[in-house]
Amino acid sequence: MTLAQSIIPITPLATQEKTSLDSNFIQNGKGHAGMIHPAHLIQEGAASDRPFIEDSLRRPLRDLRISVTDRCNLRCTYCMPREVFDHQHAYLPRSDLLSFEEVERLAKVFIRLGVQKIRLTGGEPLLRRGIEHLIEKLAKLHDPSGIPIEIALTTNAVLLSSKAQSLKDAGLSRISISLDGLSEAVFQRMSDSNISVSTVLDGIAAAQRVGFSPLKVNMVLKRGVNDHEIIPMAEHFRNSGIILRLIEYMDVGCSNGWRMVDVVTAKEIHQRIHQLYPLQELEPSYPGEVAKRWRYADGCGEIGLVASVTQAFCSGCTRARLSTNGMLYTCLFATDGADLREPLRRGADDHLMGSLITQYWQRRTDQYSQLRHTVAAGTRQKIEMSYIGG
Ligand code: SAM
Ligand code: SF4
Ligand code: SF4
Repeated sequence: MTLAQSIIPITPLATQEKTSLDSNFIQNGKGHAGMIHPAHLIQEGAASDRPFIEDSLRRPLRDLRISVTDRCNLRCTYCMPREVFDHQHAYLPRSDLLSFEEVERLAKVFIRLGVQKIRLTGGEPLLRRGIEHLIEKLAKLHDPSGIPIEIALTTNAVLLSSKAQSLKDAGLSRISISLDGLSEAVFQRMSDSNISVSTVLDGIAAAQRVGFSPLKVNMVLKRGVNDHEIIPMAEHFRNSGIILRLIEYMDVGCSNGWRMVDVVTAKEIHQRIHQLYPLQELEPSYPGEVAKRWRYADGCGEIGLVASVTQAFCSGCTRARLSTNGMLYTCLFATDGADLREPLRRGADDHLMGSLITQYWQRRTDQYSQLRHTVAAGTRQKIEMSYIGG
């Protein structure tokens, strides 16, 4: 069995396809593995001239989320419930984690296949020791036509006030911060911690001070737990230059006990804000943007609504996820993935890694959110978000 055949846990390729795996990987970032039918090799217009590969539903690979740790200093009930993620939980041993050099190498391969944005996530990415060094490496990357790759990070901001400057200096382009309420009791209940809201607000202030702009604050809504914080949060972030993004609670993983009745829909969130502060719809900032953008009619800023449950956006989903230990997943709700660490550590070169990723992406059929309410979707053994990367 060849290295390539041994790692992709998917339907075997036809013989002819297997033999072309190594030889046809097109170089200089303009192409991809032999598996690709010429019709799939599409160039964008002259303005961007960026290559890309497509999945079986003709969605390009454009975004890469990299989870840099499966650990976290909070225990948000919708993500890492303490009953499951307790001291007995088996976190990944250090030797399983991709090194920064391995992440950088894979990032370069993904970029040659069309990735334009990289987001570091987790778990809590600021817990990964020396994260600034990884950012420094990634911030130097650019696509085949010389356009710099945007490097973003999502954090709970518990450690942000002391790290904001070094993250900026390392070349991080953007930060999104998670905050589910302003009241101490609500925040501590949602995060199942005794961290103070002021710690997160200090982190936000530090990020603003060092020049991260525009900052985005993510708020996940759970009915009866923090939905009464919608208006206080909207009022707090109006006029601040910060974009509040209100997110429907999702059924990621299998441990959060998700129920549809706990979801506060984007429609309802919109109504609640709109009746106090009229909103006007804005155009997406870029194709495939997951948040629907709204501006306050009085000019006091912008919010985003992420209707991942009630208005699925799978048809425009261009995201791949790389887990902390190097598994490639093509959906947030994936049940399995492709091990990229194994071939990497066994000496596969960049062309072979590119072929493997291309093959996996080409087979992608994911559209979980659009199928959520079907029986098949309901019985899936999904991977936890803290591991796969939120
Ligand atoms: N620890 C970092 C943080 O919280 O920002 C990064 C990782 S976290 C998994 C990434 C994002 O996923 C956060 O904004 C979090 O609120 C969101 N998230 C986690 N579980 C979720 C769920 N069940 N539904 C919706 N969003 C969720
Ligand atoms: Fe940690 Fe982020 Fe998950 Fe909360 S949402 S438990 S902060 S990884
Ligand atoms: Fe993308 Fe999967 Fe989410 Fe659909 S359900 S938008 S395919 S990550």
